[in-house]
Amino acid sequence: MKLSYRCPQCEQPHIGQQLADASSLNCECGWSRTIPADLMHDGRPTQCVVCGNADLWRQKNFPQGWGVLIVTIGAIISSIFYAYYQPLWAMGTLMIVALLDMGLYIWMPDVLVCYRCQSRHADVSTEGHPDFSHELFEKYRQEAIRQQQVERKD
Ligand SMILES: [Zn+2]
Ligand SMILES: [Zn+2]
Repeated sequence: MKLSYRCPQCEQPHIGQQLADASSLNCECGWSRTIPADLMHDGRPTQCVVCGNADLWRQKNFPQGWGVLIVTIGAIISSIFYAYYQPLWAMGTLMIVALLDMGLYIWMPDVLVCYRCQSRHADVSTEGHPDFSHELFEKYRQEAIRQQQVERKD
């Protein structure tokens, strides 16, 4: 499994950390967390490695911005063809872009994201795992707001 997370203590990002034989997570600031021995079930984590939360959503590991970039480039090339009176090529370009976008989406692997701390668990099986739920996301968002208010009162 590859884990991407922000350290809960110092907020430093750790990107794509390989957890193959690791028994704990460690950050330079001194934060550490033991990885539970029974974490994996059928090749997928039963809880967030960073905060222990059991609610994770499945998401495509598609870098945000790629899709937009592909479509933008396609639109520019297509408009150049239009400018030179090549409507078939213009249409063709748009179709290729759409297929490329779709192909990338299908080909890209899934990651499991934690509702509470947004840690991303890649390189895991996501078979049968629930997709993103707005209700759950809202529940955790409210929880985070309440947490902040409590901290402010202290
Ligand atoms: Zn840290
Ligand atoms: Zn988490």
